Amino acid sequence: MEKRLLTKDAFAAALERLAAAKRVLGPVQDGDNVVFGPLEPGRQPALGYRNTRNAPKNALFPHTETLMRFTRTPKGVECAGQGDDPAETVVVVRPCDAQSFLLLDRVFDQPGCRDPYYVGHRERTTVVALACPQPPYAACFCTSVGGDPVPAAPAGVDVLATDLGGGGGEILAEFLTPKGEALLSFFEGQAADGQADARKAQAGEKARAGIRSQVPAREVLPILQKNFDHPFWAGLHGKCLACGTCTYICPTCHCFDISDEAKKDDGVRLRSWDSCMFPLFTKEASGHNPRSSQKERWRQRVMHKFRYIPENFDLVGCVGCGRCVLNCPVNLDIRKIVQDVAKI
Ligand code: SF4
Ligand code: SF4
Repeated sequence: MEKRLLTKDAFAAALERLAAAKRVLGPVQDGDNVVFGPLEPGRQPALGYRNTRNAPKNALFPHTETLMRFTRTPKGVECAGQGDDPAETVVVVRPCDAQSFLLLDRVFDQPGCRDPYYVGHRERTTVVALACPQPPYAACFCTSVGGDPVPAAPAGVDVLATDLGGGGGEILAEFLTPKGEALLSFFEGQAADGQADARKAQAGEKARAGIRSQVPAREVLPILQKNFDHPFWAGLHGKCLACGTCTYICPTCHCFDISDEAKKDDGVRLRSWDSCMFPLFTKEASGHNPRSSQKERWRQRVMHKFRYIPENFDLVGCVGCGRCVLNCPVNLDIRKIVQDVAKI
């Protein structure tokens, strides 16, 4: 595995060069926010960012994606395959977001059940993770859900970049996979030695100690298994506006809807994000809705992340990025809810 030391400026310049050669999605300044979006050639990435307001799942599981095109002809309906651009992409993300890709892999790419659209995006994507020597938010709780702000060698990451601090800011870039090594020519720097590893380990210890939010994410599984009908659920959702923000910005939420849109003889089949927070999400064609109030929808959200996904995949369905905590308009806080579940 190749490791290089670069100054912060050299690292930013490398990303700019990369953006001139390939499609790169990463942190970009957008007014007062930093969002996950295209790094246009000549535009500096927002490397001093906290975490992007939106999650990067859009790169692998687009908000709206064409699954199929169809045309009515005199002989019947003719269908053609995927219509969206299959571009090679480099994504620049935080470790928690890289971890979310592993969970999406389990959902969309299982033996005998591979979603070709997702798998195609995933295979064409190279993941550059920017470690968090300074955990950006008080709402971060990645260490409670199997994550690490400065991971040793995270699964699913092709290049790991860690800011070691120092005068001009020094970045240790570790090229962990063949996909990562294919980017080596963009990242000019000097070979890193054992001292850089020691500095990274130190930065990791400090970062982990800096994460204050502790959430008993694994511990609540047996409690949830026994308490589907507990009165606790009735007191949970009172303030919820059913706006869906928490699920849209969540890096692991992956519910979707499929619709056909046609104009005269031509049409497209689209897959679009949906949300368990929306009343219509589970409404059946008969008119019956098995999750008829926000109580059932909120229970579903908690159950899905902390019971069903752990049961099915032995992973927690949350990576602790804290976006839902920071962006809920009525301050519903998943950390507190999981802490309260632990006390049932
Ligand atoms: S962001 Fe808050 S108000 Fe909106 S659906 Fe989620 S929990 Fe409810
Ligand atoms: S949750 Fe952890 S990995 Fe994610 S931004 Fe916060 S400190 Fe970094």
